[in-house]
Amino acid sequence: MKSLCLAVLSVLFISTAQGQQAPASASPVSVTVIRAGTLIDGTSNAPRRNQVIIIQGNRIASVSDASKAKIPAGAAVIDLSHATVLPGLIDSHTHIFLQGEDPAQGGYDANILKYPLALRAARATVSARRALEQGFTTIRDCETEGAGYGDVGIKEAIEGGYIPGPRMFVTTRAISTTGGYPLEGYAPWLDMPKGVQIVDGPVEARKAAREQLDHGADWIKVYMTHRSWVGRHGELVSQPTLTVEELKAIVDETHGWQRKVACHVYGGIGLHRALDGGCDSVEHGLDLDDAAIAQMLRQGTWYVPTLSVYYYDWAPADTPDGQRDRLRASLHEVSFRKALKAGVKIAFGTDMGGIPWTDPIAQEFPRMVEFGMSPMEAIKSATSRAAEMLEMQGQIGVIAAGAYADIVAVNGDPLADIKVLENVAFVMKDGKAFKNEAK
Ligand SMILES: [Zn+2]
Repeated sequence: MKSLCLAVLSVLFISTAQGQQAPASASPVSVTVIRAGTLIDGTSNAPRRNQVIIIQGNRIASVSDASKAKIPAGAAVIDLSHATVLPGLIDSHTHIFLQGEDPAQGGYDANILKYPLALRAARATVSARRALEQGFTTIRDCETEGAGYGDVGIKEAIEGGYIPGPRMFVTTRAISTTGGYPLEGYAPWLDMPKGVQIVDGPVEARKAAREQLDHGADWIKVYMTHRSWVGRHGELVSQPTLTVEELKAIVDETHGWQRKVACHVYGGIGLHRALDGGCDSVEHGLDLDDAAIAQMLRQGTWYVPTLSVYYYDWAPADTPDGQRDRLRASLHEVSFRKALKAGVKIAFGTDMGGIPWTDPIAQEFPRMVEFGMSPMEAIKSATSRAAEMLEMQGQIGVIAAGAYADIVAVNGDPLADIKVLENVAFVMKDGKAFKNEAK
């Protein structure tokens, strides 16, 4: 150790003395070897047995049969020969700045009205850690709910190595219209803060997108519906928010920056405006009609269903809200089954934060399987498919040469029992093991 430190110091001294960076070859790249009893690589349709993964630095150098693998001398070996090894999981819809707000503790509004931003940031730090320790090595965080550009800060803290957490794709403030987001229900003469950036008209919409992209948004998040209730004919009605023209301004601006637009939307008018406006991913999509599914297929729109969150906090069955809550869940199942059958591109997402971060993120997998998805397809939705949506295919969501060494393992077979993904025993991100409880 001492001699290594001296070597590092002398390299630092030389590079300082010469006023330039030391060549990359000056610092030895660490080599780690994982022995995988079963490997689900994120893209193949079948698992492989007894594989050896060689990791150099933060990337996977090779994956091969144990019988053919050449283990480099001096490599650190991690034995996962009794476990199932998978790519680090990807949750494409989280909110690290939400904590499953309990109405008894002031609910959503208290976040914005009472909590210091530092408190919210501290709790978001814990959320990020929770994601990583459950095997989610990448998240797309779908807005900060009044905490401004806090997600950009948390992402920087993770990338800087100050706190543990997943790779983050951030959306910052999100966008809706007047009458389209909390805080609401206060006296009309009070100018209340909002959980999103409010815009009215295509000029304001484009300006908001520009601001958010300028301040670090990787995606733009737009709310295309807001309130929902049971209509006169027993249907689910969702209040539309942005017009097609407003959304088109946002999409045009965002695509110009080579970024994408995620649309929170339930169904009806708002859903069709979202698709006509060119949104890249439908978030939630509780009530997908056949025309919408056909248009999603035509346009290559992603579907991030977030099923589980709609089974939380139902109001009593004999109340209007209770009837709406039950209708939302039942329509969601129908929509998911139809979209799956039609071949819509589906990426795993949960709405964690809407769900308390103390609950398992992987509870979404059994819902997807219950509604007709095979366990392997469900795993792909949280690995290679999500990576495709994030335009990171080959980099994350796959165990193959050249990808980042984001690797997890479970004790047990997730193809036989998808629930084992709720107990991830081993987590490596960027070639560094974060947790190892594999048996
Ligand atoms: Zn959400």
